[in-house]
Amino acid sequence: MRSFDLSGRVAIVTGGNGGIGLGMARGLAEAGASVVVAGRNAAKSAAAAAAIGGVAIEVDVTDEASCRALVARTVATLGRLDILVNNAGINIRKRPQDLSLAEWREVLDTNLTSAFTCAQAAHPEMIRAGGGKIINIGSMMSIFALPVVPAYAASKGGIVQLTRALAVAWAADNIQVNAVLPGWIDTDLTRAARAQIDGLNEKVLARTPAGRWGTPADFAGIAVFLASPASAFLTGTAIPLDGGYSVQG
Ligand code: NDP
Repeated sequence: MRSFDLSGRVAIVTGGNGGIGLGMARGLAEAGASVVVAGRNAAKSAAAAAAIGGVAIEVDVTDEASCRALVARTVATLGRLDILVNNAGINIRKRPQDLSLAEWREVLDTNLTSAFTCAQAAHPEMIRAGGGKIINIGSMMSIFALPVVPAYAASKGGIVQLTRALAVAWAADNIQVNAVLPGWIDTDLTRAARAQIDGLNEKVLARTPAGRWGTPADFAGIAVFLASPASAFLTGTAIPLDGGYSVQG
């Protein structure tokens, strides 16, 4: 179907060197896009870019200059920018009373402020390209909460509202902005959670109607849909991709 074709499009995926980001980057590349895999770990990014036929560019998304340089290098290397996936994210699991302000800032800077900074840097290039697609990654913690995620939940709730605000502001520029809210996905991030939280594996399996953890490959299809002309009239949404986790009563 031609409306899913991304030939000639250029995409940046922050945190595209592993986990959900790599799942999305692989989908975009398979649909024909030229993909920039952007992360801090240069060796990990180089390996991921090689695996999908993409380009690796180093970025620290908590640093505004680094985000602007990422967009500038992408355009210098690949000629344009059409698609931005704000996927880089971290979690620091502590009760609110134990979380330092520095830790709060680290999580907010990485998960939320980065999406604003990268989107702002991408905006003029997307206008130059005649439009664009921004995909922000939220979480079940955009909707629910746990006792140990004060900063993470705030950042992921914020992602939903940032998505709406950018969608409304930039609709006239033909830029669609949507969020994806992953359920429990098997990645490095959740492997750490499984080690820290007793019984997490069993709880996830029991609570997820699909009866399994998600995989990075589950994110390829939605990345292509939200990055392609097929979703031209879809903007400002937050789509759960969770095996039914968020709708089970
Ligand atoms: P991973 O830990 O596998 O990936 C996180 C990615 O973020 C890495 O590629 C990492 O790159 C990158 N990253 C972190 N900090 C920075 C930074 N300062 N600058 C640039 N890149 C950075 O986790 P997931 O794939 O699980 O997570 C991806 C996204 O999905 C996150 O936003 C997460 O919150 C979200 N999510 C994940 C869920 C899950 O179940 N796994 C559930 C809900 C949401 P590097 O290694 O180079 O630092």
